[in-house]
Amino acid sequence: DEIQSKDFIRTIIADDLATGKHDQIVTRFPPEPNGYLHIGHAKSICLNFGIAKENTGARCHLRFDDTNPTKEEQEYVESIKDNVRWLGFDWGEHLYFASDYFGQLYEYAEHLITTGKAYICDLSAEETRSYRGTLTEPGKNSPYRDRPVAENLDLFRRMRAGEFPDGTRVLRAKIDMASGNMNMRDPVLYRILHASHHRTGNTWCIYPMYDYTHPISDALEGVTHSLCTLEFADHRPLYDWTLDNLPAPCHPRQIEFARLNLSYTVVSKRKLLQLVNDGHVSGWDDPRMPTLSGIRRRGYTPAALRSFCDKIGVAKKDSVVDMALLEHCVREDLNESAVRVMGVLAPLKVVITNYPEGDTQNLTAQNHPQKPELGERQVPFGREVYIEREDFMEEPAKKFFRLAPGREVRLRYAYFIKCEKVVKDEATGEILELHCTYDPETLGGSAPDGRKVKGTIHWVSVAHGVPAEVRLYDRLFTEESPDAGEADFKTFVNPESLVVLNNCLVEPSLAKAQPGSHYQFERQGYFCVDSKDSKDGRPVFNRTVTLRDTWEK
Ligand code: ATP
Ligand code: MG
Ligand code: MG
Repeated sequence: DEIQSKDFIRTIIADDLATGKHDQIVTRFPPEPNGYLHIGHAKSICLNFGIAKENTGARCHLRFDDTNPTKEEQEYVESIKDNVRWLGFDWGEHLYFASDYFGQLYEYAEHLITTGKAYICDLSAEETRSYRGTLTEPGKNSPYRDRPVAENLDLFRRMRAGEFPDGTRVLRAKIDMASGNMNMRDPVLYRILHASHHRTGNTWCIYPMYDYTHPISDALEGVTHSLCTLEFADHRPLYDWTLDNLPAPCHPRQIEFARLNLSYTVVSKRKLLQLVNDGHVSGWDDPRMPTLSGIRRRGYTPAALRSFCDKIGVAKKDSVVDMALLEHCVREDLNESAVRVMGVLAPLKVVITNYPEGDTQNLTAQNHPQKPELGERQVPFGREVYIEREDFMEEPAKKFFRLAPGREVRLRYAYFIKCEKVVKDEATGEILELHCTYDPETLGGSAPDGRKVKGTIHWVSVAHGVPAEVRLYDRLFTEESPDAGEADFKTFVNPESLVVLNNCLVEPSLAKAQPGSHYQFERQGYFCVDSKDSKDGRPVFNRTVTLRDTWEK
């Protein structure tokens, strides 16, 4: 699946190599360390690091865009690195921080001042807003716009020296207050902020803005193609203006692509933060969250995410991708790799009355029906087994082919059993257990006399089953586009997005299942051992996805 038709960005890159515009491609993934990465970021990671992998000699930088001291934390830096590695990508030596460029950014700002391209403005935030004009009305020049260079330079140096309080002055580019593009109406390049930075501490009390920092960081690193999402298209003229007016080592090309939006969830750090803060989820790594840490804990694999990003492609128009496609991708991957096991989620006891009391047999089960190389294992069988409560109906419905009074079914890897008696609680009528008989001739799944059964059901030995907690996850929202309308998106949180089952039993091979390992519970779905709450002898399983694929190609 490596062979893929080229998207418009890969086409541009191939052309740039063919024409000799570049002989080495450099991309970057530039997260702001102010939160955890989500599935949208995976698209950008797969694109940027993917391009680096596909082109000989190319590389992709991991750059933390850490210019906003008040919102950023080291904890996020670590989790972002961890996520990128988990997705299967490697920045090698190319780890950068925009804050490493604070010195150069400052020098360049003095250059803009000296060449008359930037000035110190003393308007208040409110005044600045009213001077900016609107989409239909041009803005007005700031009264400080024509300050002499020497005065600008002096004020800028004093800003840096900490002489002025926050918010009293800014450095602005001198571009065009009548520009049709609001970003070009003398944008702010530097602001005063007496705040400690997670890497530079108290060295600085002025901080550069994103639109100024980004093109310079790209250029300093020799980035050739600066790929960003569509909302930055209107910022491209400023990106280019900045580099055109500085002695920067090169001029990378900014190219915009569509953000990933995914149905039945939200992909915005701000909104995800609300879900955490309001207690709708247990944290950033709640398995229902579209964060990479949540998705991972849920049991999604890196291969599934990469395949998803391949399939959605890269386009120039925003769209909403169907969650069913993501689910399809993880099924496709786990179907290949996950070992098949038996687990009973809602147990009903079956006593096999003609099976010798105290006898245990070890039956051989295939780990993967299509992949003998994944081996086999032993599953203990005895006189009492649990089956799934819903695999029995006292009065079977029309198309119900599983167990019912007088009916025979196959126990997976074991024998045919026949239901002889239903034992109930006399007071409540609740079914307590079934009494069945087995046919010793049917081991291995077929009867010597050729009689057939229509159903095969899974089971776990009562004497050997391991108690487990199973968490059934569903989509986090009941609405396809929870944040599209007027209503608060949080009102659409799916109340059934988590169902916890406490009385489950799994086969003994799972007693020490490794946190993070993946299984298919036969007939139930794909499950992953929870990495936080699972313990030896008391495993916790997260349902990654059910078996039924709803993706239509
Ligand atoms: P959010 O809007 O969720 O806060 P962000 O864009 O502010 O995300 P950054 O840390 O600045 O988050 O993003 C790092 C990179 O990931 C940027 O290049 C950004 O364009 C890209 N990115 C973020 N969200 C998406 C998305 N939904 N689809 C594709 N790329 C995305
Ligand atoms: Mg951002
Ligand atoms: Mg953002």
